[in-house]
Amino acid sequence: MATVETRDNARRSAVQREERFIDRPLKEDGQYKRISEYYGELVFDLQTTDRLPDAIKKEVLECTTQKRQLNRETVEVIANAATEWALSHGATHFCHWFQPLTGGTAEKQDSFLDLKNGAPIERLSASQLIQGEPDASSFPNGGSRSTFEARGYTSWDLSSPMFLVEGINGMTLCIPTAFVSYTGEALDMKTPLLRSVTKLSEVATKFLNLAGHAETKNVTVTCGCEQEYFLVDKSYFYARPDLVQTGRTLFGKAASKHQQLDDHYFGFIPARVMSFMQELDLELHRLGIPAKTRHNEVAPGQFELAPIFKEANVSSDNNQMMMALIKQIAAKHDFVALLHEKPFAGINGSGKHTNWSMADNTGINMLEPGNEPQQNMRFLATVAMVCEAVHRHAAPLRAAIASAGNDHRLGANEAPPSIISVFLGDTINAIFESIREGKTYTPSGDSLLDLGAKQLSQLLKDNTDRNRTSPFAFTGNKFEFRAVGSSASVSFPTAVLNAAVADVMNESNGLIEKDLAAGKSIDEALLAITKKWATNAEPCIFNGDGYSDDWVKEADKRGLPNLRNSAQALGVLADTKQMAFLSEQGVMSSAELEMRYNVLLERYITLREIEFTTLQDMINQNVLPSAIDYKLKLGQVIMNQKSAGLECSVEVELYKKINFAMESLSSQLNIFKNGFDSLEHEEQKRAETIAETLYPLSEELGEHCANLEGLIPDNIWTLPKYYEMLHNK
Ligand code: ADP
Ligand code: MG
Repeated sequence: MATVETRDNARRSAVQREERFIDRPLKEDGQYKRISEYYGELVFDLQTTDRLPDAIKKEVLECTTQKRQLNRETVEVIANAATEWALSHGATHFCHWFQPLTGGTAEKQDSFLDLKNGAPIERLSASQLIQGEPDASSFPNGGSRSTFEARGYTSWDLSSPMFLVEGINGMTLCIPTAFVSYTGEALDMKTPLLRSVTKLSEVATKFLNLAGHAETKNVTVTCGCEQEYFLVDKSYFYARPDLVQTGRTLFGKAASKHQQLDDHYFGFIPARVMSFMQELDLELHRLGIPAKTRHNEVAPGQFELAPIFKEANVSSDNNQMMMALIKQIAAKHDFVALLHEKPFAGINGSGKHTNWSMADNTGINMLEPGNEPQQNMRFLATVAMVCEAVHRHAAPLRAAIASAGNDHRLGANEAPPSIISVFLGDTINAIFESIREGKTYTPSGDSLLDLGAKQLSQLLKDNTDRNRTSPFAFTGNKFEFRAVGSSASVSFPTAVLNAAVADVMNESNGLIEKDLAAGKSIDEALLAITKKWATNAEPCIFNGDGYSDDWVKEADKRGLPNLRNSAQALGVLADTKQMAFLSEQGVMSSAELEMRYNVLLERYITLREIEFTTLQDMINQNVLPSAIDYKLKLGQVIMNQKSAGLECSVEVELYKKINFAMESLSSQLNIFKNGFDSLEHEEQKRAETIAETLYPLSEELGEHCANLEGLIPDNIWTLPKYYEMLHNK
């Protein structure tokens, strides 16, 4: 029984782990450095570096805000400066770092080595900085069904700073890039995001100009991603084939004590986890990722990390690095970090609350009420436009967050539902209600609303109503897209959201211009669009309990889409009518969408199929053999008892129980196998059968396994259990 020993060993090593000590950065006088003294030391920021002349910095700034190309000589200067900077830190290699459609990142490293007349030198040329050609044939590209050449090149994104990635034996300069085909189609997550930010900036600038903010020259999308994750001791992780193969447990008997006592959330952080978090924050700060908040989450073994928000593009890159670092540093502490949306059945899953807003160059946060009544009108109109955007494009937004992992959260009973709705809170709700009814509308007065200016900002500050059950919630001065999965790239959902808002804002700008031309005041025009969208989007606004069954029925009555699983949700990507706004806003062409649909659908199918084979393997290799071992033992005792002429009713009872549980499992396994073997080949159908038939069957199988786990003696059961894995030392 080798595996039982493995589990015993796993327990032993997990219990004996020590906290890991790290060398904190010191000043020459031996004092600890402050965060501000090492923050961003591994980042080559073109604006703050002292290695570039001011003229170049100015040119770069103009190019990033006006989306112009840098001239060749400037790129040469930047390439040299970046190389010298990287070399001074001990870097030996560089890479183009990009986000293919796997959801993760990719890189191909080259050394700085070059030969000049046969002599070795270090060099990064302008063209090496600007463009790279990874061998792209192995990246997901939607296969032959995609309508364009899916090989491509990487292209430097100068709006996201280069950074150094440190291994114990060297450093690599990472250059953030977009990944596009030779014919210009996006093959990555970043390109649509960049396009959507450009579009939204253009439309929002116009809106602010119309609303009287003449100083507004550009608008950035701001984004802060709260990252949730689980930590499991690595010895348990490697003793669970499901964790290794699929990132989640496919079954497990619930621990008697899990999150019922609510004692983990914001609780005392275990020492070993704390030492991990300290090292993680240090490394994030060195990389210029503004880690701010760290705390225990709801489930035991679950934690959260939230950074200070940044521009969406950089924030998305930062989140990718953050996920990678969480994994790397966890490993140094003998943990494995699980970024999966639902690693353990029956307890909280992990999301990535994506906080979102828009800010202009003068510092206006468009989702923050100002101090003047008129600014409140601008604010309310913005909120109303976002509501309409979410209402109008609810299905594409749902599609943008679809994944096998996220299916366990959305629609499950402790996560946002798969119905996309907006939570506004009582204050804005009440204001919208009166605007709809025309009650507070006093066109000639100074105060357009009953609520004075200061009152509104104060009200929203005091108004702490929180709704954890909404997939898209207004939280004071930003919206929070809560339905995004913990392992997802935020680029795609953010791009779809930006495009949705740009769509509605664009239309609104037209309406405002018309009103102004007809002699109306800007306040009247803003009020008119607030009324229009607050009324139109009303069905999508929901402030109640999103987890309740009543909401599912109510949403159905309101005609809101409820795409219960990824197969249904991803189908939306193939619906050219529903997705047309993305190409209209210049964010994604229909060919790009088709490719994404193919890739994501295939990914969904493949991930589920890996889970199905892993589950069957574990049943055959772990669960049934443990049950047989136990039966063998019991059978022996029963025979002994009988030959001694003794009663053995208890043992016989146990034997029958085990036998029955095994038979149920085995017949369920047969049903499952038959279903699995007869899956359709056509991918959309295959995905749907998986989502609607096979996956629920696999869950039932899992329940049979968990039932057996509860019957089989601890010293025969070979797999680490929930209570062990979740309660970290
Ligand atoms: P809470 O979720 O409790 O409101 P915080 O106020 O700390 O917590 O915000 C959570 C996240 O929202 C952080 O990452 C924060 O930086 C980000 N955030 C705050 N303001 C904005 C904004 N204007 N735009 C985008 N993200 C923001
Ligand atoms: Mg939050």
